[in-house]
This record gives sequence, C-alpha cells and structure tokens, in this order.
Amino acid sequence: MKPSTGHYDHIIIGAGAAGLMLADAFGRDSYFRDKKILLLDKDSKNTNDRTWSFWEKGTGRFDDIVTKSWKNIFFGGQGFSAQFDISPYQYKLVRGLDFYRCYLDKIKTYPNIDLIHQEVTAINENKEGVTVTTTEKEYTGTRVFSSAFDFDALKNDSKYPLLQQHFVGWVVKTKAPTFNPDKAIFMDFSIPQKNNTRFMYVLPFSENKALLEYTLFSKDLLPLDAYENGIKDYLRDTYGCTDFEVLEKEKGSIPMTCYDFQSHNTKRIQFIGSAGGWTKPSTGYTFYNTSKKIAQIIPLIKENKPLTPLRPKRKFKFYDLLLLDILFAENHKGQYIFETLFKNRPPQLIFKFLDEETNLWEDFRFISGCPKKEFILALFKRMLRHI
Ligand SMILES: Cc1cc2nc3c(=O)[nH]c(=O)nc-3n(C[C@H](O)[C@H](O)[C@H](O)COP(=O)(O)OP(=O)(O)OC[C@H]3O[C@@H](n4cnc5c(N)ncnc54)[C@H](O)[C@@H]3O)c2cc1C
Repeated sequence: MKPSTGHYDHIIIGAGAAGLMLADAFGRDSYFRDKKILLLDKDSKNTNDRTWSFWEKGTGRFDDIVTKSWKNIFFGGQGFSAQFDISPYQYKLVRGLDFYRCYLDKIKTYPNIDLIHQEVTAINENKEGVTVTTTEKEYTGTRVFSSAFDFDALKNDSKYPLLQQHFVGWVVKTKAPTFNPDKAIFMDFSIPQKNNTRFMYVLPFSENKALLEYTLFSKDLLPLDAYENGIKDYLRDTYGCTDFEVLEKEKGSIPMTCYDFQSHNTKRIQFIGSAGGWTKPSTGYTFYNTSKKIAQIIPLIKENKPLTPLRPKRKFKFYDLLLLDILFAENHKGQYIFETLFKNRPPQLIFKFLDEETNLWEDFRFISGCPKKEFILALFKRMLRHI
C-alpha cells in the first residue's frame, strides 16, 4: 500500500495541451478558488517536443506565445497549385516549450493547484471517489480528468477505420536564403505519393529557417529514414538546397478515427484532449479545438454534469468518417481529394467546415467541392454497414 495524501476535488492527469489548459481555467476562475486541484504528469515538460499550429480569426488567447503567423498559405498538388490569402484567418504557430513554460508559470501562481511529477499507474473508481495510484503515492479525488489514454484500445475497434497522421519534422537553418517567410505551405502533394496520402508541410520562420514536416495520412508508420529522406529530397528538389543544419527534430503519430472516446467516461473519470476524442479525425488538428472544448466544459464541471454532450456533432463525425473510409480503402486518393477541394473551394470555407461551424448550405458547398464519385460510393458502403 502506497502512502496516501489529502483528498482533491479535481485531479488532472497529464500536463500537456489539455491538462494545462484545464488547470489554468480552474486557476483563473474564482468558482474553483476553494477547490483543491492536483495536476499530475510523469514528464517535466521542459523540452520542445512539438509545434502546434492552428488557424484563427484576428487576435486570440495564445498570441503572447505565438512565434509566427501567416496571412497566406500555399496548397500544392500534382495538377493544381495556388497561394491563398486566408483573411480574416491567420495561420499561427506556437512552440510546445513556450506553451509549457507559460502555462506552468501561471499554474504555479494558483495556490489551490498542486503540480506533481509522477507517473500514474492505476485509476480506481468507487462510490466515494477515485483513487489515483502513481509510482510513488496514492491520491484520492472526487473527479478525475485524464489526458492519458491507451491508444492500443483503438486497434481492437472494428467499427471505425483507423488511420494515423504520422510525420517527422525538422527545423532547419539553410546557408542561402531559401524560404518565403510570408507564406506557410499548408499541404504540398507534389511529392511522390507511393500509393499513400503523403504531403509536405513547411512553416518558414525566415528566409533561412523553417519547420518542414514529411506527413502521411495512412495506416502504418514508416521507418525513420523514410521521413527524413523525404525532407531532404524536398529541400533539394523544391528549393535546390542541400546545405543546411538541423536545429530541432520532432515526430508524431496522431490517431485519425471516429472512435467514440467519450464512451470510456464514467461518472467520475472523464477523458480530455486527444484521449477525449478532441482530435479532428480527418485532419489530426487538436490544439485549438482543445481550447474551445475547455471553455465549454467548465460550466458542466461547475454543475457536476457529465461531459458526454461534448461528443463531436453527428453530421461532422459522419463527414469525417466518409473521408476516413475512402483513405482507409484507397489510401492513394488523398492527393486527388484534397487537390479537387482546394481547386474548387476557398480555404476560408474549408477552415470553417473543419472547425465544424458551417451551416447546412455551407456543408453542401463544401461537399460538392469534393470528388463526387468517391464520396457517394463511401456513403452507400456505410449505409450498407448501418453506419
Ligand atoms: C509532434 C506533434 C505535433 C503536433 N502538431 C499539432 C498541430 O500543429 N496542431 C494541432 O492542432 N495538433 C497537433 N498535434 C496533435 C495534438 O495537438 C497534440 O498531440 C496535443 O499535445 C494533444 O494534447 P493532449 O493534452 O491530449 O495530450 P498531450 O499534450 O500529449 O498531453 C498528455 C500528457 O499526459 C502525460 N501522461 C501520459 N500518460 C501519463 C501517465 N500514465 N502518468 C502521468 N502523466 C501521463 C504525458 O506526459 C503528457 O504530458 C501534434 C502532436 C504531436 C505529437
């Protein structure tokens, strides 16, 4: 039996994007001032392990830690390529480490929040509350919000297709001026597709420095050198650049699935962040959505209500499912689908749709901008499977 400490009203597991945003929301809100809150993470969060990007209209709450933003994006395809002015949106970039430092500093100023670096090994719920066991201690809480999730559970689910957005990113510094710092390369499908959905993503900080990510939407990960060679090839073929230094590296594999993550919620244990299904299945974008979801769950937590209403809106889940069905069955079709969409529709509509803010007419405009045959076929196949 491990030594037990005092009781907490709320225990947050994970001090990543969702855990830190939730802890900060608790800390800022006077309603929670007399509540004892514990934030647990196995990691000290002192490395720049990821870069978050998102689109946003005008100013926003992360602007103090935004490293760079772009008003123009480039979409590259095999037959169609274009640069777009995305106003009123901007595409913004936040470095993981800047976010961790900023939020951890804020959280340390909230007297009712304890931050402890320990690994959680078990969570047990009973009538009175929840016991959270770590490698060192046991903590009890009335309610637990967890961003730790066993993603292997997804692999056993046969209802929904499971793809991954997987990538390796390098921040490179080039000898010669190479990049256009005014334009983010949102998706460049001009690279060899090798029977998958593969694209390059380039966020230039200056003429000599950029983050380049070799990215796939597909079932299986590649060996590390396949992503790294993809970045080197792109630098050589697109920019004629072979003389560069790698300043930072990151990699990720984000599940793309319509799996019902919220079905794991219980009365006292709720999953947040990617573990709560806050990742957009068709794109892997999570960060900005997490900030929106946190704002939505605070009133529910105050009223001690379950977070179940936060399931994705049904119609958007269904649209995502159709795209995933197509890419799961015919992974090479991604380039054609995205290229057709960007050729036919403005990025402002695409962003609004991906933000799940479009009305039915706008849904129709978006969908009719996609290749029809593939989606109609996917629709019929899903109907036969009773969705
Ligand atoms: C490299 C990378 C780049 C990404 N880029 C973008 C992007 O540009 N835009 C976007 O919208 N999304 C992006 N994502 C997806 C998503 O935004 C991130 O994964 C985001 O960090 C998810 O937030 P989260 O809080 O759910 O999980 P995390 O931020 O991963 O936080 C989970 C936390 O839980 C802790 N933890 C896990 N298990 C335990 C345990 N047993 N005990 C204690 N602590 C535990 C971990 O240490 C971690 O700190 C990216 C992901 C990666 C990996």
